[in-house]
Amino acid sequence: MPAKPVIFTLDDDPEVLQAIQRDLRREFGRDYRIMRADTGAEALDALNQMKVRNDEVALFLVDQRMPEMSGVEFLGKAREHFPNAKRALLTAYADTSAAIQAINEISLDYYLMKPWDPPEENLFPVIHDLVDQWQYSYRPAFEGLRVIGHQWSPDAHRIKDFLARNRVPYRWMDLEADKNAGNLLKSLGDAATLPVVILIDGTALMNPSNVQIAEKVGLKTQAAQPFYDLAIVGGGPAGLAAAVYGASEGLHTLLIEREAPGGQAGTSSRIENYLGFPSGLSGGDLARRAVAQATRFGVEILTPAEVTTVRIDGQYRILVLSDGSEISCHALMIATGVSYRRIDVLGCDALTGVGVYYGAAMTEAPSMQGQDVFIVGAGNSAGQAAMYFARYAKTVYMVVRGDSLGKSMSQYLVDQIAATSNIKVLLCTEVMAVHGTEHLEAVTLIDNKTHETQKYPSAGLFVFIGALPHTDWLEGVVERDEHGFILTGNDLVRDGKPPMGWKLERMPFLLEASVPGIFVAGDVRHRSVKRVASAVGEGSIAVQFIHQYLGEL
Ligand SMILES: Cc1cc2nc3c(=O)[nH]c(=O)nc-3n(C[C@H](O)[C@H](O)[C@H](O)COP(=O)(O)OP(=O)(O)OC[C@H]3O[C@@H](n4cnc5c(N)ncnc54)[C@H](O)[C@@H]3O)c2cc1C
Repeated sequence: MPAKPVIFTLDDDPEVLQAIQRDLRREFGRDYRIMRADTGAEALDALNQMKVRNDEVALFLVDQRMPEMSGVEFLGKAREHFPNAKRALLTAYADTSAAIQAINEISLDYYLMKPWDPPEENLFPVIHDLVDQWQYSYRPAFEGLRVIGHQWSPDAHRIKDFLARNRVPYRWMDLEADKNAGNLLKSLGDAATLPVVILIDGTALMNPSNVQIAEKVGLKTQAAQPFYDLAIVGGGPAGLAAAVYGASEGLHTLLIEREAPGGQAGTSSRIENYLGFPSGLSGGDLARRAVAQATRFGVEILTPAEVTTVRIDGQYRILVLSDGSEISCHALMIATGVSYRRIDVLGCDALTGVGVYYGAAMTEAPSMQGQDVFIVGAGNSAGQAAMYFARYAKTVYMVVRGDSLGKSMSQYLVDQIAATSNIKVLLCTEVMAVHGTEHLEAVTLIDNKTHETQKYPSAGLFVFIGALPHTDWLEGVVERDEHGFILTGNDLVRDGKPPMGWKLERMPFLLEASVPGIFVAGDVRHRSVKRVASAVGEGSIAVQFIHQYLGEL
């Protein structure tokens, strides 16, 4: 339930203050919180705290004659915090000229004469009228987290991306563009370190880590049990599918995800080739549905939590997480997917996160309004990103190394791009350098046939090239190919012989790695098809082999 708006009263005379509070509570207490203070300084302090908590003030009712700060002075200062609140003065007959002057000075809405008895005649009608006017123009405050920072801060980008991918509602308050952001920051005092995350209860976190945020917004980062039948590393489509099938078939299942459930698919603006969704669905929506389904079947999901090592101890596969905790399981599923290769050009490292981004970085799209944006890559993911950014950017340039888009991109996307007037495809082109001091300002491109170069002003470069598997942590544990993708099933059998160290009579199952009981699904698997449906299919099928493996123990 959102907190009730506030009627705030201020008077240095304790008896008057008590009387006005009593009368206001009786008439307005059902719909408003009645708050009071007896000095201007105390009242301003309370307003600071209310601002941070995202409270709303409907009306100030303030005594004019107070020793340290007059009512008019106070209302002038209060207006900075709550400009839309109605302002009324409580005056003695002698103060009416100050009140009349205040109508112009601080846009005073009304002045009331003391005493106000009977309140039914002299107080309530006026207050009703004022709060009704306020209600008419009142838009309830955003109920969620607020993030204050600078647009070009890599930490602000990290936090926004983390919240968006975990579907935590937040409001971004850019210090350069939003004057409320500056006021709110002032309310937090001098010690504020940017970016600041303000929780719903008003607690401010200074440049928090993703794990700190996760703990405050109800995400789970530590396992409830020391042992599970099935532990899954990676919460993309493959991991989520394995989790749904595993748990629905009675396995005590844990899923560990280091960023946000959904994986690469979760960053897709529109997946149009997934069975059963004829008009497509966003990756975020797919992830939300899959997480709800897995949770319904009792899957425990840890996020953000990263697995850094795995140890084999007899029947047990023991996972070590980056916080040092250990979890053991009988069957382990690796579904850690791939991530984009970095581009190695002049200036890129320094500008990563401040104009140069890997993947869709959809949270940055609104800040690209009216700017020129560059997308590097020619796969479906680059195509989707171009379509998405075209809604915001002035022009989207697609930087494509090859001589055609059609070689690597689905035809439906090639057609959509051709029909979008503000997307320009630059074939046979590569990025040569990126420029900028505090953030990306320009991009130099080179034609790889003529070697001509051209520098373009730009605020955003989004890179979608090649894929690298996340398997460094498995070195020496399971067999991988020369690119790091994990070998499974028949790919491990050479000259009819099982992989080295394999002690079972049978050969590895279809999706089983070179260690019995470790299964692999999705993009991270050697020669897998890099598609959502294939990852989901593999994750589901693997559970059948996991049952067979568990039956052998
Ligand atoms: C922008 C974009 C658009 C796409 N569009 C489409 C499309 O329209 N249609 C289509 O079929 N395919 C599309 N794809 C491809 C598709 O998303 C992938 O094939 C699919 O997501 C692979 O699923 P996965 O579960 O194997 O791996 P991923 O989706 O890569 O998920 C792996 C997960 O493992 C986590 N992880 C990695 N290492 C660890 C660790 N050590 N500990 C814990 N967690 C870890 C990662 O954070 C990640 O969340 C798109 C991809 C992208 C990037």
